[in-house]
Amino acid sequence: MTKPYVSVVIPVYNEQENLPDLFLRLTTALDKSGQSYEILFTNDGSRDNSLALLRDFHRQRPKQVRVIDFNGNFGQHMAIMAAFERARGDVIVTLDADLQNPPEEIPKLLREIEKGHDVVGGYRKDRHDSWFRRKASRLLNIVRERTTRIRMRDQGCMLRAYRRNIVEHITASGETSTFIPALAMSYAASPVEVEVEHAARAAGTSKYRLYDLIRLNFDLMTGFSVVPLQMFTLFGMAVAAGSLVFVVFLFIRRLVVGPEAEGLFTLFAILYFLVGVGIMGLGVIGEYIGRIYQEVRRRPRFMIRDIYEQLND
Ligand code: UDP
Ligand code: MG
Repeated sequence: MTKPYVSVVIPVYNEQENLPDLFLRLTTALDKSGQSYEILFTNDGSRDNSLALLRDFHRQRPKQVRVIDFNGNFGQHMAIMAAFERARGDVIVTLDADLQNPPEEIPKLLREIEKGHDVVGGYRKDRHDSWFRRKASRLLNIVRERTTRIRMRDQGCMLRAYRRNIVEHITASGETSTFIPALAMSYAASPVEVEVEHAARAAGTSKYRLYDLIRLNFDLMTGFSVVPLQMFTLFGMAVAAGSLVFVVFLFIRRLVVGPEAEGLFTLFAILYFLVGVGIMGLGVIGEYIGRIYQEVRRRPRFMIRDIYEQLND
């Protein structure tokens, strides 16, 4: 009976400097919208003072703030997943904790939901990230669009709103490594994208190192497409066909001109290239097998130590 209209979901990993400001701006924006809401924070194994701050928010507004405390660091997408499983709103909004996504933009997303869309994705206007991140993102957006066929302007933007049924489908899928915006897009019947403001990180540093970003993009690619596997099959077929032509040429040359002696280093260059491609192919197969292994082991995707909430029934 007293279910909120909106659930705002925020993953938190070492964000102590940003949380007070975030909480103030978020609650101000939501109070102004006049709709009933709840805020679900997931503490993703922070080693700073984040949990204490979140518990304090819960004490300030026990009916509106719920805190899920993870037993370790399980990653941003699992932190969102845990909150999705518990969110009670008709509409669920995701947001970063570092104030890169202004909370004041939430009503804009809600208006699109009210127009009948089931997924509202934000794309960032003048993105405030490092030059390298912006370029890499551009490239990865193109690769992802080609391989997965998921149309999304800005996969890295977490300011998004979903209708409840979409979130239920996402939690039901139960995958261990996934990419929530892409999963939502693949379930959406009527998605829409809106431009949202973007700010530089208010404080602290990005929680993603280069290696994490590479891992995340493998999740995205392997989780939504088998094109990487097919590319190796096609490449193998092309090399085999080319080699066959070459063998025939060399055979005829042997009969007409005589034995070939030079070209040793060219041969090595070609060979090393092909060995490199071969190893890469093994790696790609490994990415898929590793994920299959993760899924069949059926270990918990995340572990919750505690939940601070006060649900009125
Ligand atoms: N985050 C998390 N667990 C992690 C990494 C990040 O919960 O292992 C949270 C982080 O606190 C922030 C959001 O995910 O709220 C986005 O992280 P970040 O701002 O570092 O990513 P970027 O904006 O650099 O892509
Ligand atoms: Mg950020």
